[in-house]
Formats: sequence, structure tokens, C-alpha cells
Amino acid sequence: AQKLDLVFQHIRNVPDFPIEGIVFKDICPILKEPKALAAVMDLFEEHVRQNHPHTELIVGLEARGFLFGPLLAQRLGIGFVLVREKGKLPGPTMSVEYTLEYATAEVEIQVDAVDPGQKVLVIDDLLATGGTLCAACELMKKQKAQVLGCLVVIELKDLRGAEKLPVPVFSLLQC
Ligand code: 5GP
Repeated sequence: AQKLDLVFQHIRNVPDFPIEGIVFKDICPILKEPKALAAVMDLFEEHVRQNHPHTELIVGLEARGFLFGPLLAQRLGIGFVLVREKGKLPGPTMSVEYTLEYATAEVEIQVDAVDPGQKVLVIDDLLATGGTLCAACELMKKQKAQVLGCLVVIELKDLRGAEKLPVPVFSLLQC
């Protein structure tokens, strides 16, 4: 509870970002305070060791999944791979398109990033509508990986993103 409090205290609500009417959850203060970042990593590590001890790979989403994912992978002694926006990764890639409110986006991964059957966890900073994590899970399915679950620091419960996902989501904080 103390660790969760520390994490909670280092999330900043930014009104009207990126557009009017949205209250953005800014996780930058967590990264600026080593004790808060350590608390995030402790809580994630504990969860994975208890619930998914056979995880082989952490898959992180651009951009803020890249901040937490490699640290967690290091703690677990496993690898980290990147899911990026289309057009950023070199070499043979595969991608999945998904719909945003008024447009479409595409996430991409290198084809040799994950082996068939590999057990993976997908990590990002925040779950909103679930579109992004859902696309990443689809990408994993295309690569024949076994997705054990998703990890996020913050889950915006009202948007019911978890219901859209094919696997359980573990969130440190629910807002
Ligand atoms: P979703 O696809 O679930 O609707 O949106 C989640 C994605 O948008 C995540 O990659 C997350 O980084 C970003 N995102 C959306 N809203 C916020 C927010 O309030 N704070 C942060 N830190 N990220 C957000």
C-alpha cells in the first residue's frame, strides 16, 4: 500500500491535454523520482514472479512502454522487444492496423522479435480504450506468441478497455 501510494503521488493530472476536455495522466514525475520508479518496478516484478513465473519476454509499446519494459525485463532476467508505430523499425516487419476515434493507426514489430510459442507479457504506461494493447495482442497472435497478460501503471476504468482485451490486465492504479 505504501508503494502504491508513492506511485499515485507521482502521477500528475494535466487538464486539456492533448486536446480540450481531456485530463492527461502524466507519468513523468515517476521517472524523476527514483523511489517512485523503484516502487513501480517492485510491484510489477512481484506480480510477474507470482502470477507469470514462466514469462520469456516483455513486449513494450511505444513510447512509454519503453520506459518501464526494459527495466522490468532486466529485473526478471529476460529479454525486451519493441512494438513501434509503423515505419520506424528496420528489416522485415509485420503490422496490425487499428482504429482510433477519427483515424487509424498501425503498430509494427520485427518478424524475428518473438519466436512461435514464446510466453510474453505486453506492457504500456496506461490503458484507456484498449485499442493500442489490443492491436499489440493481435500482433503477438500473428507471431504465434502466447500472450499471458498485459501490464499497465494506470487503467482508466470508465473506458472499459480491459473488456476489449483477449488476456487479463494487471494495473497498479485504477482511475
Ligand atoms: P488506448 O489505446 O487504450 O485508448 O490508449 C492508450 C495509449 O494512449 C497508451 O499507449 C498511452 O500511452 C496513451 N495514453 C492515452 N491517454 C493517456 C494519458 O492520459 N496518459 C498517458 N500517460 N498516456 C495516455
